[in-house]
Parts: sequence; C-alpha cells; structure tokens
Amino acid sequence: MQSSHNVMVFIEHHDNRVAEISKELLSRASDLARDLGGEVEAVVLTGEEMEEIQDLGRYGCSRVYCVQDKRLANYTSVPYSKALGKVVRNYTPHVLLFGATTMGRDLAPRIASELNCGLTADCTELEIGNHKIKGKIYENILLQRRPAFGGNIIATIVSPESKPSMATVREGVMKKQELDEKLQVEVVNLESDLTDQDVLSEVLEIQKVEKKVDLKSAKIIVAAGMGAVDEKSLNMVRELAHVLGGEVGASRPVVDGGYLDKDHQVGQTGTTVRPVLYIACGISGQVQHRAGMGEAHRIIAINSDPNAPIFDCAHYGIVGDVNQVLPKMIQAYKEN
Ligand SMILES: Cc1cc2nc3c(=O)[nH]c(=O)nc-3n(C[C@H](O)[C@H](O)[C@H](O)COP(=O)(O)OP(=O)(O)OC[C@H]3O[C@@H](n4cnc5c(N)ncnc54)[C@H](O)[C@@H]3O)c2cc1C
Repeated sequence: MQSSHNVMVFIEHHDNRVAEISKELLSRASDLARDLGGEVEAVVLTGEEMEEIQDLGRYGCSRVYCVQDKRLANYTSVPYSKALGKVVRNYTPHVLLFGATTMGRDLAPRIASELNCGLTADCTELEIGNHKIKGKIYENILLQRRPAFGGNIIATIVSPESKPSMATVREGVMKKQELDEKLQVEVVNLESDLTDQDVLSEVLEIQKVEKKVDLKSAKIIVAAGMGAVDEKSLNMVRELAHVLGGEVGASRPVVDGGYLDKDHQVGQTGTTVRPVLYIACGISGQVQHRAGMGEAHRIIAINSDPNAPIFDCAHYGIVGDVNQVLPKMIQAYKEN
C-alpha cells in the first residue's frame, strides 16, 4: 500500500468525551509527523455528533475523519474494524496508533490482519528513524520500543516493509501536550456503509465500576513495596500519603500478595504515573517497577539495602528501615 507521510490516531471516546490516551497519542503523533514531514490525522467512529472533535487541534491534529452511524454508538469489534479499515485503506497513513486499552487491543490486530501489516503491542516509546537490516537501510520508519523478555530488555521493533506501521501504546506513557495555539481542524465526514448484518453482537447494558484510586492524576504518591507490608508499616505508608494529600501506590508483589488492590499497582503491568513526588517505601526498584514511575519529577526512596536499584533513579535516597524513617517523615510533614 502506497502511504502518505501522515500519522493517524484512532480516537477512543466514552460518554461522548475523548479519552485521555487519545490526547496523549495525538501529542506524540505531532512529533512523529513533524519528523516525517506529514500531518496528524484522527479517526472518530461514533453514534452521535461529537463537539470535542474541533478541540483536537489543541493536541496537534489537523484533520479528523468522522464516521457517524448509530451502529457505532458502542464499541463492538466487527462494525468498528470494518469502518476503520475502510478509512485506513482510503487515506493510507504512514503510521497508525491505538491506545493499548481493551478497545485498542481488540481493534488494532483486526486492522493489522486485514491490511497484512506489522503491529507492535504495548509500546512505551515511539520514534522516527533509520534501521539497517541485512545490509539494507530503511529510512524514516517507525521505531517501536517496548519492554521484552519480562522487562529485562527494551526491544526496538520495526515493520518496514508493510504500511502503515501500527502500534498500541500504554496509557500514561506518552505525555499529553497542548499547543500554545490550537490548529484549525478539518472535519471530513464520511459515509458509513455498515449494514445490520455487520452487527453480530449487541451491547445491552454497561456497568461502570469506579476506580478506587486515581494514580494517574495523583500529584503525590507514597508507594509500598515488600519491605513495607506488615500492618504497622503499611499503615504508616497510608498515613504519610494522607498527610501529604496523596495516593497510595504499590509494587506488584504487594498487590499479588493481597496487601493492596490492583488499582494501586505501579509499573509495567500496573499504572504508569508521573507525579510531582513519588516516595518509594521498601521497594527494590526492579526495572518493571521503574517502567511505571521513573518519570516522576522527584523520587524519594527509603530502603534498608544501600545497593537497592531504586537508588539509581531516586533523587533523594534514605538508607534505613521504613519503621524508623516513616514516623519521622510523618511528624516532619505534619509540623510543616
Ligand atoms: C512481566 C513482569 C511484569 C512485572 N510488572 C511489575 C509491575 O508492574 N510493578 C512492579 O512493581 N513489579 C512488577 N514486576 C515484578 C518486579 O520484577 C519485582 O519483582 C517487584 O517490583 C519487586 O517488588 P518489591 O520491590 O516490592 O519487592 P522486593 O524485590 O522483595 O524488594 C523489597 C525491598 O524492600 C527492602 N526492605 C525490606 N525490608 C525493609 C525495611 N524494613 N525498610 C526498608 N526497606 C526494606 C529490601 O531491601 C528490598 O529492596 C513484574 C515482573 C515481571 C516478570
């Protein structure tokens, strides 16, 4: 397929509001499109009019392909992949991006399979660059980076011989950036050719379960690792989070061990966070944990082992027992 130089983002929306992940993707797409000499395009599949489309220029999007059809009101696999496949075939982007959400993980492989092109799941970094394979140099292709082999290496994956290059990207990994002056968005309304035969499943009811913790938007996170899971130290982690007006985070074994809910988990298979302050209490700092918090603005680590890897990414390190350090921190923050 001959492709343009454009970067296309599939826009996810819920309750007629554009999802945060889509804004994050548009922001990263702006950088990629600049490197490719192309534009950022978005695809919106919807059952009703979406006013927010015009606002996507704020994140660098210059064109939105919109298919409105009542059969697209709720996400179901076949109608969405049929409608999106048609847009991608007609407008031939160089790069096509999805959130690594339930929807993106279902939809992206269907499109990749239909177009017979490569797809990298769960990327944590995207870049445009050159890549040499068996003496042949491929220029200006999408370098798709993601943790591999249990997070022990960061692999760069390319699919240079098929277009578009497709990737799903984890939520919270790319930074949402608003332009100083938003772009004028051209909205291209496209005819839907869906029929009732395309609707193989029907959404009868949607039950929403509120998340107990909103780690993604927390400014301060105090996180417990396996070095802070006895009742006394876990209560101190909670108290420090409370005193600072923050949320409680956790490493994966803390969640797997049933000490805290999955909503608290930070890391490769948990939430990616970027708070102003991250206090790691009794967390060793393995790469899978750091993948989720390494971008925090300030990291304070408390660990009894001076060689713990968490000290490699911490801005301030306290070598000590959480049971002795945390009471002092709580007292100090209370007093100030
Ligand atoms: C595919 C895959 C995905 C993964 N995803 C995630 C993920 O999303 N998030 C995640 O966190 N992990 C993840 N992991 C697990 C990860 O590899 C580590 O095992 C985990 O992060 C370790 O958790 P921890 O630091 O709490 O525990 P430990 O490694 O057991 O470390 C406990 C630390 O506490 C310190 N300590 C002990 N007692 C005290 C004390 N009294 N005071 C101060 N310090 C003390 C110790 O020195 C030690 O450094 C994943 C692993 C794999 C293979």
